[in-house]
Amino acid sequence: MKKIVIVGGVAGGASAAARARRLSEEAQIIMFERGPYVSFANCGLPYHIGGDIQDRSKLLLQTPESFLARFNVDVRPLTEVVSIDRANKQVTVRLLADNSDDIKEYTESYDFLLLSPGAGPIVPPISGINNPLTYSLRNIPDMDKIIHAIGENKVEHATVVGGGFIGLEMMEAFHALGIKTTLVELADQVMTPVDKEMAGFAHQVIRDKGIDLRLGVALEAVEFSATSYVANEDAGEKIEHQHLKGKLTLSLSCDEKLDTDILIMAIGVRPETKLAKQAGLEIGLLGGIKTNAQMQTSDAAIYAVGDAIEEQDFVTGEQTIIPLAGPANRQGRMAANNMFGRNESYQGTQGTAICKIFDLAIASTGKNEKQLKREAITYEKVYVHTASHASYYPGAEIVSFKMLFSPTTGKILGAQAAGKDGIDKRIDIMAVAQRAGMTVEQLQHLELTYAPPFGSAKDVINQAAFVADNIMKGDTAPIHFDEIDNLAESQVLLDVRNPGELNNGFIEGAINIPVDQLRQRMSELPKDKEIVIYCQVGLRGNVAYRQLVNSGFKARNLIGGYRTYQFAKT
Ligand SMILES: Cc1cc2nc3c(=O)[nH]c(=O)nc-3n(C[C@H](O)[C@H](O)[C@H](O)COP(=O)(O)OP(=O)(O)OC[C@H]3O[C@@H](n4cnc5c(N)ncnc54)[C@H](O)[C@@H]3O)c2cc1C
Repeated sequence: MKKIVIVGGVAGGASAAARARRLSEEAQIIMFERGPYVSFANCGLPYHIGGDIQDRSKLLLQTPESFLARFNVDVRPLTEVVSIDRANKQVTVRLLADNSDDIKEYTESYDFLLLSPGAGPIVPPISGINNPLTYSLRNIPDMDKIIHAIGENKVEHATVVGGGFIGLEMMEAFHALGIKTTLVELADQVMTPVDKEMAGFAHQVIRDKGIDLRLGVALEAVEFSATSYVANEDAGEKIEHQHLKGKLTLSLSCDEKLDTDILIMAIGVRPETKLAKQAGLEIGLLGGIKTNAQMQTSDAAIYAVGDAIEEQDFVTGEQTIIPLAGPANRQGRMAANNMFGRNESYQGTQGTAICKIFDLAIASTGKNEKQLKREAITYEKVYVHTASHASYYPGAEIVSFKMLFSPTTGKILGAQAAGKDGIDKRIDIMAVAQRAGMTVEQLQHLELTYAPPFGSAKDVINQAAFVADNIMKGDTAPIHFDEIDNLAESQVLLDVRNPGELNNGFIEGAINIPVDQLRQRMSELPKDKEIVIYCQVGLRGNVAYRQLVNSGFKARNLIGGYRTYQFAKT
């Protein structure tokens, strides 16, 4: 009989506990959780604040009682594991529920210990940041406090710092509540898992919704001023609510002051490694708990999973930290398998992720271009902007899709997509294709579902693969949006769209010859210069490219067309 002790009772911890029980009826399984709830839906928290998930109890997926009934797991909430004695294989735990001054601690032995303590929000040491109206969102109590503060302080203006998943979801939640919102982001884009030109689609939607989006701006200081307030004890108001009434004045790096009623800090998370460090377990260079592929730490009896660890990057094989629920759950299950003698190896994390921003979905898998540049990995890229299903069937929306691949082997390195429909489907397909080691050549042959309400006979992914294959086989010479503003004297810019389309914008200095007139008007173009062609999305550009090249011109086609160029500037 094995005794398994688990630290952390949410994604990774709860998955491991349930799996361990499914593998053995005899094992003794104890799960310690510092907070009052276990196995809650942390990913659902912003949606309860914004009102999409009305019923708070829907966020509580399991309780200690239900865990006991179904899995015979001894769940101990409000109990913090404070130290690990590796030599004697035991942990010391502290009871947090007890209000008495005496600290109540006891020890518990283990055969195997699983650490799934997660990651805590990063709160930078900004002057005035510790005030009653500044919050981070990690768990149910945080959510309850935010909801309470919104009501208590009659919040009319909210500020969210950080344009990652949680920041964007909180921005939308405030907007849904009719609260004016400012989103402050230090980088020049939100959603850093995608590249800036793809984030441009999000920027436009955010601004269209009336959010005050501040990119490239840092929060530098916070000042809290309490509103004078007399508690109405007859109405049952408690004195301790008094501190929630007030105003914050934020100092921003753009030399501006901003008054706000609540501040959410969502600039990222940091692995919780205190316990592991104190126990002398090895910590990786990136600051997460180091594990091997079997999820064992530097002590073979101690496993670690989830947001607290460093894992292997699927694309590069290097160590990485990717705090997502999918990897945490899968790692928890695998760690339990390995405790029972299976020798399974974690296959790396791709970072497949998606975020809803109002009616836009934006998603990615694998490496983005910024990372490939940073890691000096050679890549090529393509963009397509095409309908989510047959454009003649009602409800089709544009899928803006970017794919990164190796120009030598054709192997998929990453993909990103933005749009109102069919985004999850495309990125999920790409995640599978990448995991299977497919090349862009093979991607052309994918046979995907098609009927007009669902897709196209040539799906977005087939089309992206055709463009990539054209580049690899030399059937097209690409130029990218980020090269267009720096063309040489020896290059001429040719817009092959219809004149009416130019009313929605064009690139300065371009000659306009619609593609359907090109054969007749080719003589207007110089043969001694390179013709840089663009259309709206790249398709007509490719038709023009083939005509020109087959007629003896030197040419390049703007991949992704004007639409990519335009959104890169948003
Ligand atoms: C608001 C929000 C939205 C999110 N949305 C998404 C999403 O849409 N998609 C996605 O993929 N991911 C999302 N995530 C991330 C995802 O929730 C995490 O990646 C995942 O929960 C990590 O699992 P974990 O087991 O490592 O840590 P957690 O699930 O965070 O669990 C760790 C638990 O350990 C407890 N603990 C820590 N130290 C101790 C100790 N010493 N003793 C006892 N208990 C301890 C903590 O109290 C905590 O409850 C979101 C996260 C948040 C906060």
